[in-house]
Amino acid sequence: MSPGPQAWEAVIGIEVHVQLRTARKLFCGDLAVFGDEPNSHVCPVCLGLPGALPTTNPEAVQLAVRTALALGCTVHERAIWARKNYFYPDLPKGYQITQFEQPLATGGLVAFDGAAGEAIVRIRRAHMEEDAGKSIHDRIAGGTAVDLNRAGTPLVEIVTEPDLRSAADTRAFLTALKQMLEYVDVSDCNMEEGSLRVDANVSVRPRGVEELGAKTEIKNVNSFSGVEKAIEVEIARQIAVVEAGGRVEQQTLLWDDHRSVLRTMRSKEESHDYRYFPDPDLPPLLVSQEVVVAARAALPELPRARRARFERDYALSAYDAGVLTQSRAGADYFETVAEASGKAKAAANWVMGPAQALMHERGEDPTTFAVSAAALAELIGLVADGTISDAVAKGVLSVVAAEGGSPREIVRARGLTQVRDDSQLEAWVRAVVDEHPDEVARYRGGEAKLVGFFVGQVMKRSGGKADPKRVSELLRSALA
Ligand code: ADP
Ligand code: MG
Repeated sequence: MSPGPQAWEAVIGIEVHVQLRTARKLFCGDLAVFGDEPNSHVCPVCLGLPGALPTTNPEAVQLAVRTALALGCTVHERAIWARKNYFYPDLPKGYQITQFEQPLATGGLVAFDGAAGEAIVRIRRAHMEEDAGKSIHDRIAGGTAVDLNRAGTPLVEIVTEPDLRSAADTRAFLTALKQMLEYVDVSDCNMEEGSLRVDANVSVRPRGVEELGAKTEIKNVNSFSGVEKAIEVEIARQIAVVEAGGRVEQQTLLWDDHRSVLRTMRSKEESHDYRYFPDPDLPPLLVSQEVVVAARAALPELPRARRARFERDYALSAYDAGVLTQSRAGADYFETVAEASGKAKAAANWVMGPAQALMHERGEDPTTFAVSAAALAELIGLVADGTISDAVAKGVLSVVAAEGGSPREIVRARGLTQVRDDSQLEAWVRAVVDEHPDEVARYRGGEAKLVGFFVGQVMKRSGGKADPKRVSELLRSALA
């Protein structure tokens, strides 16, 4: 009898290339920008012309150190730049400057929420390297164009241990990793522009067996959903191979997103194929303990810690805290509203509800939103002290977004203050009751839930200004 897919366990390890958001390239003064005229940011150093000498960009080192610390890695005082030799048209020097035997950082941990709760992925290493240029296959008919603007831009490569066990968990891990990189502001993490590139290493083994199976490496995936899909396809393929009595061959695979298939790119190369050796043009990269201590002190609160603190300090549900900490700017916005209003729960509801909707509608984000955190806090205060109803407050929010100004001023100028004066409220209640004899009869006949209909009618008549709580009390006695 065939053992079946549940007899096999998938093992996945990830390599992520993160483009650091420096102004300039790693070893020369050329601008590191995406999308400019091809080959407009090149110089003898990144073109690898004879005699040109690289020097290390300190801004890139600083961002790499921050990345490594966010991953919980140990940052080493001394890293060695190494040449990785290979031939490719978009690699003008014929080698890539990277770190091999002595990387910048090793031994980190990243937590994420997997299918079975909180899970941990160990980070094997995080090293710095330069990017290659780009081969463009759709610009010249029958030929390949090469754009070297990207050649020499700074990357951090993050390598995990093979700690992941499913495609879905891999996606969850990558989502947590990206969120963390955005929090520490080291990269724009734009996958379409290639600022975050993921390679997935996949193998299978009989469940319960310790030893790892032969792996394949999947490249060329440009979305997290693509990564998940590609890993699923590859796990299924490998299981089919071993179930049929075959052996998984080590190879590098390319993901074709349109057809959802994997193609063989090359059989697996080994590290000795690259003839790594220390770059004789560059001194060792020295990172002092003082620099590490300062970088650690300057790290912002990381997303999981912030989420836990929001749950604790603001008595939010795990779900709400998760939504509110998705981006650092969003979390900052919420936190300012919560502190300024003193009403955390209301702040959460307003930020996740009406404010978020309005932001979306206006194509804004928390850093550009037309309603400042202070204005939203003021609005929440006006609802809390009974000056305006919730319904009116939503309208005021839109006015603030469109025209600016303070909520209190808008409420005053437009006469939107909530009506709680019984004689006015009773007049509206009476009018509504008189206008709806059929509903009154049905209510008196036992349809108690019709009270909602009457409240709605009174609110409408009042232009949203009636105090709905008092209205419902008055209605109950008028209808009794
Ligand atoms: P290589 O020498 O092929 O680059 P490494 O041992 O350096 O392989 O590992 C590269 C990546 O592949 C790491 O993320 C690691 O966790 C992962 N990996 C290594 N072996 C396996 C395996 N058998 N199955 C799945 N992932 C693996
Ligand atoms: Mg590798």
